[in-house]
Amino acid sequence: MIKGSLLAVPIGDVSQDLMLWLKSALTDTLNCDVSLRDSISLPSEWYNSARGQYCGVDFLRALEHIPRKDYGPILGVADVNCYACGLNFVFGLADPYTGVALVALPRLRQSFYGLAEDEELFRQRALKEAVHELGHTLGLGHCTDTLCVMHFSNMLNDTDRKSANYCELCKRKIGVK
Ligand SMILES: [Zn+2]
Ligand SMILES: [Zn+2]
Repeated sequence: MIKGSLLAVPIGDVSQDLMLWLKSALTDTLNCDVSLRDSISLPSEWYNSARGQYCGVDFLRALEHIPRKDYGPILGVADVNCYACGLNFVFGLADPYTGVALVALPRLRQSFYGLAEDEELFRQRALKEAVHELGHTLGLGHCTDTLCVMHFSNMLNDTDRKSANYCELCKRKIGVK
C-alpha cells in the first residue's frame, strides 16, 4: 500500500507510549514498515499568539526536510492545537505533493471537551486521523462512505463512526486488494 517505509516523527513533547502504540497499530493497519524517529523541536515561531494555536503548515514544511531513505511518507505527531488557512482548527493535515502528514492530538481527547478521559478512544481517534492524512499523501481524496477512514471528519462523531481502514473503492485506487 505504501511504497517504502513510513517514518513517524513526534514534534515537541509527545507521549512515547502513544508513539509506540501508533507505530504498531499503523504497521498492522497499513501493512507496511513503520520506523519511529526521535522527536524534533517545536519552535516558538510556529505559535500564533493571537489565535493561541500553532500554524499546522509550518509543521508540514519542517517535516519535508527530514531525510528519508526510501521516499516513504512522513507522519508528524504533535500534542498542540493547530489551525490551517481558512479553518478554525485541524485534527490533521497532509501535503500529497511532498508526502508529509500531521496529526494534532489535543482535540482528540475527551478531556478537551470537559468529558472523562478515555485513553482507548483517544488512541483510536489518533490512529484514524493518521491513516486518513496518510491516505491523502497516497493521493486519496475524501470518500462518501461514512465508514471509510477517508470520510471527512467535521466532528469527532464522524471520526468515531468510521473505521480505521480504507473502503474497498479507496483500496482499489491505491492499488491494494
Ligand atoms: Zn481529509
Ligand atoms: Zn473510501
